Amino acid sequence: METSTEGAAAGCGSDVAPATGPVRDEYPAGADSTAATAGADEAVPPADDTAGAPEAVPPAGAPVRPVIPPTSLSPSRAGDFMQCPLLYRFRVIDRLPEKPSAAATKGTLVHAVLERLFDAPAAERTAPRAKSLIPGQWDRLRESRPEVGELFADDPEGERLATWLGEAEQLVERWFGLEDPTRLEPAERELFVEAELDSGLRLRGIIDRVDVAPTGEVRIVDYKTGKAPRPEYAEGALFQMKFYALVVWRLKKVVPRRLQLVYLGSGDVLTYDPVVADLERVERKLLALWEAIRVATESGDWRPRPTKLCGWCDHQAHCPEFGGTPPPYPLPVRAGESDGGTQGRMGPD
Ligand code: SF4
Repeated sequence: METSTEGAAAGCGSDVAPATGPVRDEYPAGADSTAATAGADEAVPPADDTAGAPEAVPPAGAPVRPVIPPTSLSPSRAGDFMQCPLLYRFRVIDRLPEKPSAAATKGTLVHAVLERLFDAPAAERTAPRAKSLIPGQWDRLRESRPEVGELFADDPEGERLATWLGEAEQLVERWFGLEDPTRLEPAERELFVEAELDSGLRLRGIIDRVDVAPTGEVRIVDYKTGKAPRPEYAEGALFQMKFYALVVWRLKKVVPRRLQLVYLGSGDVLTYDPVVADLERVERKLLALWEAIRVATESGDWRPRPTKLCGWCDHQAHCPEFGGTPPPYPLPVRAGESDGGTQGRMGPD
């Protein structure tokens, strides 16, 4: 694998930031990307997750919803299943609520600022201009996702909020040491992509930025507000990018020339130049994953896979590894619902 790091702190020293929560690579085409999204690496759960609130154990013989295997995958949900099948179940099938986190929300905010900065003429895409966008984008985020306001509900003086906004400023400022937006003219920002493989599996995701050179060469760019992974974890970090490259290849019949991860937390840039064999490998991996999810869906065998990432999991109270009990499976039909023709809660991926 050819990978390279560039930037102020090449030679990374920290772990990959864990995926947190259902993310922005799942909203449908045409949706308001800024309002609906969170940072790909650190994300906010959807507002409408009440449908998955834990339910009482149904009486014996109660009707259950048939659970339909997924027909699509996003990088985040694929990553969930690879990390822990039970976590995938909690997020995709049970749709258990997750609390917004300060780090994830900061990621959302910074992504919105970097996206909106390109609205300005090239010469005006300066660090002060970018930082000036933060308050307005924060207001917009709170309007579209009122639950993020809970993060600072116990901060009447606004001290923690001020610190948090200052950290967002630092992340935005660091970007200017890694890329020069006055010399970039993105072909796409926050691009929702979706492609169907021959197998019928649909792949979907949201690409932070797509650059197209005059030669037609395509570069896919993703911003991460966490720190770059250690070299031994680079392959995992690139999975999401290869996933996007596969989707672009399927859609446009062009293999992206470069995949670029921009780590604002550590000031690193990780790049990879994919070839067809890489994308074919990713496709095989995704098909195997899809089959494993189908088997788990039908068997109900969603095994917990405890790792150090459990510390970031919102679902320990439902996880047997932590003494918890998962919601019933298959899911009971709730009052007012018919079990005839319902399709369970299996989401789009
Ligand atoms: S606590 Fe760990 S093992 Fe349990 S569901 Fe969460 S990630 Fe999986």
